[in-house]
Amino acid sequence: MELKEKITGTFESRFGGHGTIYASAGRINLIGEHTDYNGGFVFPGAIDKVIMAEIRANGTDKVRVYSIDIDDYAEFGLNEDDAPKASWARYIFGVCREILKRGGKVEGFDAVFAGNVPLGAGLSSSAALESCFAFALNDMFNGNAIDKFELARIGQSTEHNYCGVNCGIMDQFASVFGKKNHLMRLDCRSMEFEYFPFEAEGYTLVLLDSVVKHELADSPYNKRRASCERVAKRLNIETLRDADKAMLESVKSDITAEDYFRAKFVIEEKERVLTVCDALVKGDFDTVGRCMYETHDGLSKDYEVSCEELDYLNDIARECGVTGSRIMGGGFGGCTINLVKNELLPGFIATAKEKFNAKYGHEPKVYEVIISDGARKVEE
Ligand code: ADP
Ligand code: MG
Repeated sequence: MELKEKITGTFESRFGGHGTIYASAGRINLIGEHTDYNGGFVFPGAIDKVIMAEIRANGTDKVRVYSIDIDDYAEFGLNEDDAPKASWARYIFGVCREILKRGGKVEGFDAVFAGNVPLGAGLSSSAALESCFAFALNDMFNGNAIDKFELARIGQSTEHNYCGVNCGIMDQFASVFGKKNHLMRLDCRSMEFEYFPFEAEGYTLVLLDSVVKHELADSPYNKRRASCERVAKRLNIETLRDADKAMLESVKSDITAEDYFRAKFVIEEKERVLTVCDALVKGDFDTVGRCMYETHDGLSKDYEVSCEELDYLNDIARECGVTGSRIMGGGFGGCTINLVKNELLPGFIATAKEKFNAKYGHEPKVYEVIISDGARKVEE
């Protein structure tokens, strides 16, 4: 059944009548990995996988919400000590609280929601959920007075303050601002952004989810951050955004080999995002793809955040003649993102499933994505 029909049917039987339907999207990031905390660029886009909710004010001070996918119901008030126990409901409670903290208005409402963003696969189902409700509550109770960047920050603060996830702004930003056939280059230093057309006619973006997650004991993420900060400090700059290759070479003998390679990756990755944007404007997908492979190699060899399974998926992509392929996300598991010529797509997917299964005993999950609109009202 279509998402919308499922939601309206459930809303009617639970609450009677109808509310307004809103949606927001998951996201991919084409290129620009581990650049956010270095003041660099990321290049995400919203996708055609969404969280959709039907919502109606109920004239009380209580929120009553049903999750179709988890088949669970929660009811909570809007004060700080009313936090629900269920983790899925805390995303919605958090959004309400963060709006109220900013002086916005939220009243009681009834809601039913469901989605088709895979959970925990790296496509940011949580940002889709936050952005859907933030957008809806802004429209329903605040006359859209909260600007869109603040809606993204409301989602980010929800993760920090109610869900225990210390994330950056990219996911919520992409979910709120996403636009059909466009990627967005976000400057993580100035927070300025620009839309770039992504009309990859003849190509498909497909994610291969390795379904592995290697939890490493010594917090590799923090170690990478510390390396970057040490090199920036040695160069007397705030972040590696302000570094180039020549500067790095000039301090090579004063820093550890490990720090050198971490910084090298970050500096190269910052340049690659700019190269990809130029290439997209010219419709030069070969360059886009080459940069994606370079990012993969850098993440694997210099930044050392890949793993055997992701390197294997990347190798298969090369063998199949895929235009571009790389790890997407922080690393140590999760997905590769692949830019594939349409005529090669069925063969690539079949080969990846077969070879990966033969080696690791399970197939990767496959998600084709289309760059689509972000947060929006679907129907009055
Ligand atoms: P992701 O990478 O997909 O954002 P997270 O672990 O950050 O993974 O967020 C997943 C969580 O978001 C789920 O555990 C659930 O609490 C909530 N969530 C996401 N999608 C849904 C959904 N369709 N229905 C209910 N809760 C959802
Ligand atoms: Mg998330």
